[in-house]
Amino acid sequence: MKKTLSVQKNEEIEVVFEDLTHDGAGVAKVDGYPLFVKNGLPGEKARIKVIKANKNYGIGRLLELYERSPYRVDIPKEDAPKYGGCQLAHIRYDGQLMYKENQVRQALARIGKIEGARIHPMIGMDNPWHYRNKAQVPVGEKNGKLVAGFFKPRTHEILDADESVIQLPAVNEAVQVVKEICRELGIPAYDEEHHSGVLRHIMVRYGRKTGELMVVLITRTVELPHRKKLVDLVVSRLPQVKSIVHNINPKRTNVILGEKTKVLWGNEVIYDKIGDIKFAISAPSFYQVNPVQTKVLYEKALEYAELTGSETVIDAYCGIGTISLFLAQKARKVFGVEIVPEAIEDAKRNAALNGITNVEFEAGTAETVIPKWYEAGNKADVLVVDPPRKGCDEALLKTILEMKPQKVVYVSCNPATLARDLRFLETGGYRTVEVQPVDMFPHTTHVEVVTKLLFGM
Ligand code: SAH
Repeated sequence: MKKTLSVQKNEEIEVVFEDLTHDGAGVAKVDGYPLFVKNGLPGEKARIKVIKANKNYGIGRLLELYERSPYRVDIPKEDAPKYGGCQLAHIRYDGQLMYKENQVRQALARIGKIEGARIHPMIGMDNPWHYRNKAQVPVGEKNGKLVAGFFKPRTHEILDADESVIQLPAVNEAVQVVKEICRELGIPAYDEEHHSGVLRHIMVRYGRKTGELMVVLITRTVELPHRKKLVDLVVSRLPQVKSIVHNINPKRTNVILGEKTKVLWGNEVIYDKIGDIKFAISAPSFYQVNPVQTKVLYEKALEYAELTGSETVIDAYCGIGTISLFLAQKARKVFGVEIVPEAIEDAKRNAALNGITNVEFEAGTAETVIPKWYEAGNKADVLVVDPPRKGCDEALLKTILEMKPQKVVYVSCNPATLARDLRFLETGGYRTVEVQPVDMFPHTTHVEVVTKLLFGM
């Protein structure tokens, strides 16, 4: 017998929101049937329209609020472009922290079945605005004019934005200047629908401690029209620029960078500092986007590693060697592995730059290189993982269970895969003892956590 749903499509109903999803939508329940409604906040009473009624859940649109949450923040409509990508900007910052911390607790309990770990309150920012050192702005055309800003949520339409409330002022300015120059020179924007046109993204990176700027122009075509003029104008209007790079991405894809990168002007890298360590950063390498919180995160990772100077440490997913070099100051030896070859080049350069000699870096996947090291007799006392959102490859987790480092420090940008991997490690004899969420991405739904596990406790 077909069960009738509690709600029908196009129906207008009154609901009370109970919770938030991991992407920040309000959750209301009608006879146990969950409805997800963008912009609804827990505790709020609202009238909504059901726009989709699937078998197990529905989607609604907020029509009218009857009761407001004390955590609600109103953003004037004309300011919306500045808040592009800020899915949580309608929630007061202390509410955001509460929500993200709760998400970590729920993932660890429900997915990870983790018990007895100390989950600390999330460390937020004193000033959670204008923190990003990097922008990656999609470029398109509207009514014959080049626009650049962000994708309208769930569409392929690009909305023009003059600034972003989460980017550092120097980054906002650089994006704006480059955009203006591209308009003046008439550089054709990329057209995603027809896979035609030229300029796909403008990317800007900024070393907050050094003031150095990198501008990356990402095109579909091998040719970048008006290249010379463009470089001259960027150099003259952005005195802090140290590197101008052209990246070619000919594919139909939503991955931003292509495989080919050419330096058009200046250096291949820019420099920045975290704590006392200086880093060279090239265009394709990963580098944390929130410099203030990165220091907090790395210091926590270092604290959890509890190094005395005699340990061998492995830093899987090491990027440009940031965590590796932090740890090397307190360890006997650090081995770092990372899939992007350019990042490994940066990591080696960074070790030399800081006179750190007790590190070794290898390009490859963590799941193949670490088992190889283990077979060759390189066993870690402390293993640090900082994987992308999909979490650790199971082959790596299995190697950890064979190698049995005393301590694992797990840095994660996705509580769900973190919880899954912690379960795997717990089943193999580890225990999660400390969990520290750090807000690296205020006003967005992204959540970062650093975790300490001990073997055989
Ligand atoms: N710890 C570094 C980088 C973390 S981001 C930092 O804090 O800066 C995750 C990194 O893992 C990225 O540099 C990415 O290129 C890399 N990566 C992704 N998949 C990988 C794999 N299978 N093996 C090793 N590295 C991988």
